[in-house]
Amino acid sequence: MSSAEQRRQQILGGIKGAAKVARRELGDVTLIAVSKTRNPEAIEALIAAGQRDFAESRVQEAQSKWPPILARHPGVRLHCVGRLQSNKSADTVALFDVIHSLDRPSLLDSLANEAEKAGRAPCVYVQANIGNEPQKGGCPIPEVGALVAQVRATPLPLAGLMCIPPLGVEPSPFFALLAKIAAEHGVPGLSMGMSQDYRAAVMLGATAVRVGTALFED
Ligand SMILES: *Cc1c(COP(=O)(O)O)cnc(C)c1O
Repeated sequence: MSSAEQRRQQILGGIKGAAKVARRELGDVTLIAVSKTRNPEAIEALIAAGQRDFAESRVQEAQSKWPPILARHPGVRLHCVGRLQSNKSADTVALFDVIHSLDRPSLLDSLANEAEKAGRAPCVYVQANIGNEPQKGGCPIPEVGALVAQVRATPLPLAGLMCIPPLGVEPSPFFALLAKIAAEHGVPGLSMGMSQDYRAAVMLGATAVRVGTALFED
């Protein structure tokens, strides 16, 4: 087994264990490999190990890295997890299958507009500013319901809610809060959990975990 494959199997094992504790099915959770700053060789090693979902946080970096890889591996899905400017909407829609960082109505308008022009319909997660941190992206919690309703009025499929909890504090209360908000609005998916806390996120209902360091580094 390659080291990439070993790391991936270990994380899948962690997801499975957490899902079992929470009486969930392993198939309910998608492992997304966050490949920002990683080179094509490291990405190819994970694809060879069976990984199919990848995420980037910068549109420009993704544009310079991914087109040749996607051409070789048509089954790979690319997710966008970084803060987005509306003027990058056309590029974003052209490259990504899933967008995790929708956080305001003006961005939704421009994404929906560009998606229609391009004949594409990326799935979107509404990112909630779950720790109410002014410097972070994400929709203010009281406005999440309205943004969810606005997504439902577009052709873009609503994948769920996404959050990045504050650094350096126990993340579980924030995961639980995101799950509660999602339930209040009848939203299906939860994109939450990273290298340090994906097991806790799975126990609290994550349907997609975004793991970078633990997948790419020994
Ligand atoms: C980088 C990043 C991750 C992955 O973080 P790790 O701690 O390396 O697993 C997940 N989500 C977002 C939004 C990121 O920017």
